[in-house]
Amino acid sequence: MSKLITQASSINRALDQIGDKWCLLIIQEVFWGINSFNDMMAAMGVSRGVLSDRLKWLQSIDCLNRLPETEGGKRMRYHLTRKSIDLYDCALMAIAWEREYFSTPKLDEVTLVHLQCGQSFQAQMNCRTCGELVDSCSVSFQPGPGATLDERDKKVRRRSSISVQDAPSKHNLYKNLINLVGDRWTANVIALSFHGLTRFDQFHGELPIATNILTDRLKFLVEEGVFQQTPYQERPIRWKYQLTAKGRSLFPWFQALLQWGDKWCNPKDNGNPLQVTHDSCGKSLHGQATCSACSHALKAHEVEFSLP
Ligand SMILES: [Zn+2]
Ligand SMILES: [Zn+2]
Repeated sequence: MSKLITQASSINRALDQIGDKWCLLIIQEVFWGINSFNDMMAAMGVSRGVLSDRLKWLQSIDCLNRLPETEGGKRMRYHLTRKSIDLYDCALMAIAWEREYFSTPKLDEVTLVHLQCGQSFQAQMNCRTCGELVDSCSVSFQPGPGATLDERDKKVRRRSSISVQDAPSKHNLYKNLINLVGDRWTANVIALSFHGLTRFDQFHGELPIATNILTDRLKFLVEEGVFQQTPYQERPIRWKYQLTAKGRSLFPWFQALLQWGDKWCNPKDNGNPLQVTHDSCGKSLHGQATCSACSHALKAHEVEFSLP
């Protein structure tokens, strides 16, 4: 069987579109202005076949436009679309998480400057209604008007023998995050854990993929320090998997992705599948990326990235 039925979720829908290491990396490269096929291949160390496959896919979901460099010219360039530019908040949240938990020399060299206040900053996520910082402990979930079941493709896109972590890219600023969420099942498991799921059978009930795949992903998340594993039963031993502080800190990235999915990946446009409530104010949560220095919302054209 190549189909999987799961509860509709904008996170799943978004991950089914871009929850792939190479797709996420390509979007980063184009963001930095690396936008011809050959330049991308050189920058990413990816094979021609995989790159071509992902570029076609990203065009098919309206995340890239392929246009001639000059009118009528042969040299083609790839450009971000409104849809992919809208992943900006996800990128800011990814950078914030990466900075908190890893020392990434390439990232340490980058300074983010908020032009509105003139200061360098870390991005954070605040509730648009009450202004409080958003974290995974202050939200609750209810089915939304678009709650339904989704039929999803199980098929995995063409695999590459090169790992993204080994990719030589100068522009891969959040490779540890991509290493986690660039596999959609891994990302799905993390997303489910924000709903309070902790046991294998609970995860499997919501995400009925092959048990060996699920076991493998849970093990990986423990190794990566996103989950901590503790026994909830002794004989036979059974484990529960709970988010660590590092895991919980991924929530703003997932919330930004959920908002992107609500906006861009709702095929029938019949309302959001999931209602996220901010418990602090009791209102529907809309998280916005804000500047740690002045607390104002960050907009792409008001942020300068300076590379040394
Ligand atoms: Zn609020
Ligand atoms: Zn600011």
